[in-house]
This record gives sequence, structure tokens and C-alpha cells, in this order.
Amino acid sequence: MKFELSSLVRGNIKNLKPYSSARHEFTGKASVFLDANENGYGSPLPATGEEGLGARFNRYPDPLQWQLKFQLAGIKGVPAENICIGNGSDEIIDLAYRIFCDPGKDNVIICPPTYGMYAVNAEINDVEIRKVNLTAAFQLDVEGILQATDNNTKLLFVCSPNNPTGNSMNRADVQLLLNNFPGIVIIDEAYINYSKQKTFIQELTEYPNLIVIQTLSKAWGLAALRLGLCYASLDIIDLFNKVKPPYNINEASQQLALEALQNTEQVNEWIKEVVQQKEILINEFRDLSFVRTVYASDANFILIRVDDANLLYQYLASNEIVVRNRSKETGCQNCLRISIGTPAENKNLLSALKKYIP
Ligand SMILES: *Cc1c(COP(=O)(O)O)cnc(C)c1O
Repeated sequence: MKFELSSLVRGNIKNLKPYSSARHEFTGKASVFLDANENGYGSPLPATGEEGLGARFNRYPDPLQWQLKFQLAGIKGVPAENICIGNGSDEIIDLAYRIFCDPGKDNVIICPPTYGMYAVNAEINDVEIRKVNLTAAFQLDVEGILQATDNNTKLLFVCSPNNPTGNSMNRADVQLLLNNFPGIVIIDEAYINYSKQKTFIQELTEYPNLIVIQTLSKAWGLAALRLGLCYASLDIIDLFNKVKPPYNINEASQQLALEALQNTEQVNEWIKEVVQQKEILINEFRDLSFVRTVYASDANFILIRVDDANLLYQYLASNEIVVRNRSKETGCQNCLRISIGTPAENKNLLSALKKYIP
């Protein structure tokens, strides 16, 4: 099948002349910046650090976050030009809708039970949602997905490892879809750092219809900075850069992320620890009489099916322990999703569970 990006892009986006910011238009060497109506005196923040961090917040940030992208490129082994950074993955997902889907006309495919934002963003953008449920083993129904497509199908969302089930999708299934799905395949790898499976970010040259989303909110521990990563072909990244708000990543987030990304060792240690803690929890959960199924997890959470999820949820809440009740999700009746905490938090959880009388 021949892939033609332009046939998938909305007409108004193809013709869009993007906003050209002050920092965009001038590229030479300069020392006096009177082009952006900033406050040249500084910011009221105290100047900290050698370069006076506070003073720098009076200037607009780099719209394309090159420093941050170069650092990410080094860590991820993907050229900086193939990365777009969003205000959380949630912005990346929304941008994908706005670039590819004509409201009231186009449709997308999602595979429940999965991450809720794909459907919310479809509804916000008035885009039809076609649901092709995961199989009983929480795997992709490849045939069902392909059958659900028509000429107006633009996007397929594959979450792997999947939230809330925790498992990874079979790689062969994803490859089959990348080769045969008539639109863009978006693989959400929010939990890839915890997974035994290989990322798809090395496959961008292989698949021109591939977008991979990752985030700094989970393993990287930077949920509050709102940094989502999008990897795709240069042509797709061009579209994202055209449509995104010019200064979507603020300077504080850029600077703090640059600092945090130097600490890969700490992050890798935490990942190892979380995986160890997960194994402990899985074994302990299996011994609890009211737990029916402990699902395999490639992520930093565990999905369990219990006799009565609402009762157990309430019990844990009364012990000041909050978990996620996923009972109402497709295929998740009586299921709770439990994040892996610190050893102390996990101990707390286990002691509460052991005292629970169903
Ligand atoms: C947590 C999560 C994200 C992260 O979203 P951010 O907006 O980057 O914080 C993305 N996708 C899935 C499936 C998630 O569970």
C-alpha cells in the first residue's frame, strides 16, 4: 500500500500559514532584543544560579525547544528533528486530531479498555470514535480493526503497554497494522521504560504512518512539568510544529527538564526498584482470597480483578489509600488499577489488604 501523507491531512491544515513569532523571524547574531515587547528590565524573580536564572524568564522561550530536543535525541537515539514536544502527551493527542481529522466527517479507532484521553479528545474535536475492543487477553483485534476502517478513518490509537490493563501489545500485531492500516498509527508508549518490549521509536524510517508518543510524566518523575514527546517522520513533525501553539513549552519546564535529563542513572535505578516492587506485590496479591485475577504488567501499575471492586475501593479509601477503580471500563468489571508506590507505600497497602474482611 502506497502511503500518501497529504491525503490524510485536513485541507485547512495543508493550507495553513503558521504564526511567525518574533524569535522565529530573526536568526542572526544580536545583543539588543526589541522585537517581542518583552520587559527588558528583567523579571521580579530573584536571579539564581550563575547565569541569573530568574532574569531569563522575561524572555519568550525557544518555540522549538532545541536544547531539550538535542538532549533527548542523545538519550533516545532519535534525531532531534524527528521530535515534537507537547504540553503533556495530552497536547500531542489533541494536535493529532486537529491535524488529521475533519470534525463531523472523519473517524478514529480506539481499542477499549484503554487510556481515556483518546475518546475525550475525539469528542472535543467532534470526531467519530469507532471502538474495537481488545480481545479477552487484552490484545489487539487486528482483523476487527481493519474491518472497522473506511475512507474517513484517519487515526488508530495503540497503547502499549496499555493503560489500564498493563500488558504490552504483540509486536507482530502492531507491525501488521503499521503495514495495513490506511491511516496514521499512534503508539502511546507512556510506560515503555518499565516494559520488556522494545520501543517503536527506532522504526520511524520504516513506517511513514507511525507516530510514537512518550512522556516525562511517569518513569522520569516530571508529571508536573507537563512534557509529552512525539516522534515521527520529518513531514509529520512539520505539521505538529505548524499547528502547536508557538510557545507551548514554558521556559521553566524546559530548564528543569534539561537538568532532570542529566540524571538518567537515578531514573534507571527507580525503574529497577519499581519492577522489583511490582513482583513482590504481584505475589502478595495472588495470596489474597478476594483477588480473582492478577494481570501481568509491563508498566508501573497492576490491574487486579476482585470479588467486589467498589467495596474494596471504599475500604482502601477509608484507610487513606487511593487506587483507581476501573470497574466501569469495558472488560474491567470489578477491576482496580494500583500504582506501584515506594516500599513504604506498598507495605502500607499490603497491610491494609491483609486486614480486609470481604
Ligand atoms: C499517564 C499517561 C500519559 C501521560 O500523559 P501526560 O499528558 O504526558 O502526563 C499518556 N498516555 C497514557 C496511556 C498514560 O497512561
